[in-house]
Amino acid sequence: MSNQTEVFVIGGGPAGLAAALAARQRGFEVTVADSLAPPIDKPCGEGLMPDGIAALQRLGVNISARHGQRFRGIRFVNSGLSAEAVFPNGTALGVRRTDLHRIMVEHAATAGVCFLWGAVVTGLDGDRVLVNNEAVRARWIIGADGGSSRVRRWAGLDIHRRKEQRYAFRRHYQVAPWADFMELHWGPNCQLYVTPVGPAEVCVALISRDPALRLEQALAAFPYVASQLASAKHRSVERGAISVTRKLARVCAGNIALVGDASGGVDAITGEGLCLAFHQADLLADCLIRRDLARYQREHRALARRPALMASLMLLLEHRRLRDRVMRSFATKPQLFAHMLATHVGAASPLQGAATGLALGWSLLTT
Ligand SMILES: Cc1cc2nc3c(=O)[nH]c(=O)nc-3n(C[C@H](O)[C@H](O)[C@H](O)COP(=O)(O)OP(=O)(O)OC[C@H]3O[C@@H](n4cnc5c(N)ncnc54)[C@H](O)[C@@H]3O)c2cc1C
Repeated sequence: MSNQTEVFVIGGGPAGLAAALAARQRGFEVTVADSLAPPIDKPCGEGLMPDGIAALQRLGVNISARHGQRFRGIRFVNSGLSAEAVFPNGTALGVRRTDLHRIMVEHAATAGVCFLWGAVVTGLDGDRVLVNNEAVRARWIIGADGGSSRVRRWAGLDIHRRKEQRYAFRRHYQVAPWADFMELHWGPNCQLYVTPVGPAEVCVALISRDPALRLEQALAAFPYVASQLASAKHRSVERGAISVTRKLARVCAGNIALVGDASGGVDAITGEGLCLAFHQADLLADCLIRRDLARYQREHRALARRPALMASLMLLLEHRRLRDRVMRSFATKPQLFAHMLATHVGAASPLQGAATGLALGWSLLTT
């Protein structure tokens, strides 16, 4: 292990790998340390939206249908009503988290990133990172150590304006996807995501505010999904995670910057966490080359604005009566749902997004 590097990335999940790839693209010498070893798994809806695929491509990672299962859009299902729309900006990909990790690691290794796997970072000391009982000197330190980031704490950045958490459980089932949509099924106090991730496999993720609610128990409230999965073999064990919404006051201090879930997070309901992390990574590398972390601070906030707004709007639909009314509006005016989706995946301007919000509001008043 070399005792110095230009960029030290703490955490080799999708955000850390994206940050490493982006920094290598700008010519930095990069080291990534992660306490685990690849391929690293984590509960996730496993949907890569078209904007996320494009962001990965800009980082030099070409991900295609052979790595997972394409899907055309999003479908909401609630109390017998459904609304669906196709993405206006390409197709999305359902890809197993372990496959995404493997592909990103391969690309990063080819790009010349140096890896320290099974290496726990235990602290920071000025411009030195303490790892495996040794100190590595770094010009820049990137905290990509996920939602419970210790780097955030060590750097004094753990001051947030808003924090909310929900609980998620995920499992894979061996069954041919019954739709070329990612489905979001709304139930009593919980949501179920179904993402096609292969020709004979779907990923099912449950999100709720109840830490004790498990997938098999929740399926009873979703008879259609339960019937599709009835005879399907389990392809993975059920794994749990916490989905945190956190808005930090600052995401950098001195020579330290945070990316991905370490830098705050949007609720998993958006399916935008990965895409957001890829955009942040690209922006951060640009700011490192210009030695301008103040710009990272500013533009990081701007990047998070749309997903945070969409998350807040979607979480309003947890309220049953509002959700029923919104779903009736979507059912009678499908173009409204299509415009919402375009805003969600960044394919509509803020003005078009605002117009859609107004149109939905009007529809709610008149439906
Ligand atoms: C239920 C659920 C569904 C989701 N669905 C989607 C979806 O469909 N689409 C989407 O885009 N996003 C989705 N997300 C969000 C997405 O999963 C996250 O935004 C993404 O995983 C963030 O990646 P990360 O690299 O920031 O963090 P992580 O993936 O948590 O990686 C952090 C890494 O840091 C390492 N680490 C931590 N501490 C240390 C240390 N001290 N030393 C060394 N290593 C350390 C960990 O081992 C880990 O590998 C979902 C999230 C949840 C919870």
